Amino acid sequence: MSNGFQVQERFADGAQYIGGKLLPGTSGHHHTIVDPATGGSVLRYELAGTDDVDAAVAAARAAFPGWSGATPGERSDLMHRFAAVLAEQADDFAYAESLQCGKPVKLSTEFDVPGTVDNAAFFAGAARHLEGKAAAEYDGDHTSYVRREAIGVVGSIAPWNYPLQMAAWKILPAVAAGNTIVLKPAELTPLTSLMFAQAATEAGIPDGVINIVTGAGKDAGEHLVGHPDVVMTSFTGSTAVGKRVAEIATATVKRLHLELGGKAPFVVFDDADLEAAVHGAVAGSLINTGQDCTAATRAYVQRPLYDAFVRDVAALMETVRIGDPFDAATDLGPLISHAQRDRVAAFVERARGYARIVTGGEAPGGDLADGAYYRPTLIADAAQDSEVVQSEIFGPVLVVLPFDTDDEGIALANDTPYGLAASAWTRDLYRANRATREIQAGCVWVNDHIPILSEMPHGGYKASGFGKDMSAYSFEEYTQVKHVMYDNTAVARKDWHRTIFGDR
Ligand code: NAD
Repeated sequence: MSNGFQVQERFADGAQYIGGKLLPGTSGHHHTIVDPATGGSVLRYELAGTDDVDAAVAAARAAFPGWSGATPGERSDLMHRFAAVLAEQADDFAYAESLQCGKPVKLSTEFDVPGTVDNAAFFAGAARHLEGKAAAEYDGDHTSYVRREAIGVVGSIAPWNYPLQMAAWKILPAVAAGNTIVLKPAELTPLTSLMFAQAATEAGIPDGVINIVTGAGKDAGEHLVGHPDVVMTSFTGSTAVGKRVAEIATATVKRLHLELGGKAPFVVFDDADLEAAVHGAVAGSLINTGQDCTAATRAYVQRPLYDAFVRDVAALMETVRIGDPFDAATDLGPLISHAQRDRVAAFVERARGYARIVTGGEAPGGDLADGAYYRPTLIADAAQDSEVVQSEIFGPVLVVLPFDTDDEGIALANDTPYGLAASAWTRDLYRANRATREIQAGCVWVNDHIPILSEMPHGGYKASGFGKDMSAYSFEEYTQVKHVMYDNTAVARKDWHRTIFGDR
């Protein structure tokens, strides 16, 4: 794939985007973005420190009156233009996303970038549909109505697995509702968040509405969450860091939206289409090299299909082509970093002591030895309470367990702290209906696993967090409702004053 720009040149001015300009960080600490496919250096930049966060929040605060005061139609027009600019730059976005994450260009071209453009187009339209629910004379003496208002400066923090889509999911509903925002992407993957903010400026979205600070979590991240001028924290990342973020946000009485980890169950009942379930399990567990919070991670297969499922999934995993993310034929790229690869490998090594590695369980050698690659891995015979079944591995690893009764399958699906996504595989309407009701997760697919839509909410149950990204439901996070009440009697002494003045 040809790249439309040179990363070093494009970010020569720095990797912070504050008040409509690229600027260097001022923390004194540098980070080097590494291409996980080769180990080569992509860009060395200075991280944001607390002063940069302060400057970004100040820019967002200054932009708030103008942006929140614009009409919904004005905001919508600019966001439609934004969607068009993103679409024009699709190749550059796909290139940069694949470069910094190592994701196959097939995935960034067909999923990350078009998904982001669609999200921008959706929120451009949705910006005109913000509404309060009712207006009426509820007690006869007053007229009441509900105003839905922007809340102010939002501070968002995003992970490295889908940097462009995470930037879009955080920024678009916030600004469509009239807020301004400071987003901190992960240090490893700032490029497409910066490009996203630059594209907004090109589309005419005013300076300061969208700001990006690229700094370390403990430093820039915690400062952003605790900042007194930030009214809301929207965080996507691990449950462990989410707990820390929640503590800081709570101490400063902020509105909080947490999109945290997942450990999605994949429940195959004995009447399922085996071929569909096998393909769904391999695609659903390996997407983005398994670094997907909704990825299929725990396959529970009803006993009559169990052996065939294990055999066929292992065989299909072995056909997946691992390689250079920029080769159009590559199915599976490296993990985000060598550290993440080693973390995944350590889970599998520990599992050898209590489970069976059916396929995979190693890093490929040869031409791929320098990259952060790991083979698709299927693990069987692990106990339900074992680490590989309970913990988020975030790599190309699927665990498979058998079950006997429907009750048992559903109970096992619910038996982790997480509740982000799940799928049920069956041709029986009643079983499917029961599974969708009883599985505790923010999304339950039937006979598929992974597709997402701009129109539908995404968010967790249980330790996967609370609040929704995407869809009109996300406006519940990014707006506040105000009750406005008019007296209709025009009398000085209201009836209810009796409670104070008695019969005087
Ligand atoms: P992470 O929690 O390590 O980091 C996420 C972000 O938080 C990064 O920007 C990081 O710099 C920042 N951060 C780290 N420490 C911080 C602190 N003390 N204060 C403030 N910010 C801090 O997660 P990750 O490894 O980047 O991403 C993987 C995780 O994200 C997985 O757990 C995955 O399930 C989760 N995820 C969830 C969703 C969802 O929608 N629920 C989507 C994508 C990823």
